[in-house]
Amino acid sequence: MTLITCPVTRTDELVADRRIRSVTNHPTHIALAIECPACGSVHVYRTGRRWEATRAAHEAAAARPADQLVHA
Ligand SMILES: [Zn+2]
Repeated sequence: MTLITCPVTRTDELVADRRIRSVTNHPTHIALAIECPACGSVHVYRTGRRWEATRAAHEAAAARPADQLVHA
């Protein structure tokens, strides 16, 4: 399930994975084309490997001082 905000009706819609029409990999993100249950058209949303990787890197960096304290 994916939560989207329809740009036409401005409502939040919880959509089933079967409504995902296509998934396109880009160098910086992944584009999901989702059939909107609110208005019936297809909207494209970005999700992303890059953003998740960036967040994971930040979490790892944030965790490092704590690890050092544990082993000190
Ligand atoms: Zn829509």
